[in-house]
Amino acid sequence: MPYPENALDLLTPYFPVFSTAPASTNVFDPSVSAILGGSNPILLPDEGWPRCGNCEDNILIPYIQINVSSPHTPAEFRQKVGVEAEPGHTVLLQVFICAEDECADCFGERLVGAYDDAFLVRVIEVTPDSANTTAVEETRAGLAADRFFIPQGVISGWKPGNPEMLHEAVNTEIEYDDPQYLEHAPAPGLKLLGFPVQGKYYTSIIDRCPKPVLPEQAAEHDVRCLLQLGTDGNIGDEPAPSPYEVYTVGHTWIEQCTVHPDVLSMTIGGDW
Ligand SMILES: [Zn+2]
Ligand SMILES: [Zn+2]
Repeated sequence: MPYPENALDLLTPYFPVFSTAPASTNVFDPSVSAILGGSNPILLPDEGWPRCGNCEDNILIPYIQINVSSPHTPAEFRQKVGVEAEPGHTVLLQVFICAEDECADCFGERLVGAYDDAFLVRVIEVTPDSANTTAVEETRAGLAADRFFIPQGVISGWKPGNPEMLHEAVNTEIEYDDPQYLEHAPAPGLKLLGFPVQGKYYTSIIDRCPKPVLPEQAAEHDVRCLLQLGTDGNIGDEPAPSPYEVYTVGHTWIEQCTVHPDVLSMTIGGDW
């Protein structure tokens, strides 16, 4: 289980600021930090649109694409992703999931079962000119007109939120009704860093980071919440566009190894 120690530590989450009248819907645009949903995945040169390994040939849809190189993306997050782009290149953190509709059954069920074939999480480095837009257009042209995509939202930046404490479901140091906990309970919804909302049950695709560490690093070899997806539906009080409308049986988030930043694991927790 993650976070066994420092159960009373506080971490700052960052919440999305959606543009109501975005100047651009291009994740490479300097005014954009991230694109939520939509139907415009950034693909590497010569790469096809990613597909679900469980459903027959079904495409994975973009959940979020974060421009890690953007100055509008929090420095703390950029530093934790830890990839410096070459000049002219952009680093993107991309999350794709299998979703026929807003229930995202395949994604949720496969994740609970510890299968890693109904989503894709990755960090890529790409130049705007080299992204394979032809494959995107060709694939999109073959899709049904009513193909489900998460409504597109443009995130122009992120605002720091109330500091958070390890969720009470996995926190042995504090009671759920302790005033100190209530003041710092992890928030649901889409956010960077902070602590995830958990539950009695938990499945992570990588239970323990498989990479070796030096003896002096062993104590700090843990996982952190890099990005909570907010697959609990449109629970934000934000006025439109607050478009994250995908429901799974629990909260999903992406864990990152605290020693090896390239080790990322999709995770789900809840009371199912
Ligand atoms: Zn699927
Ligand atoms: Zn590690």
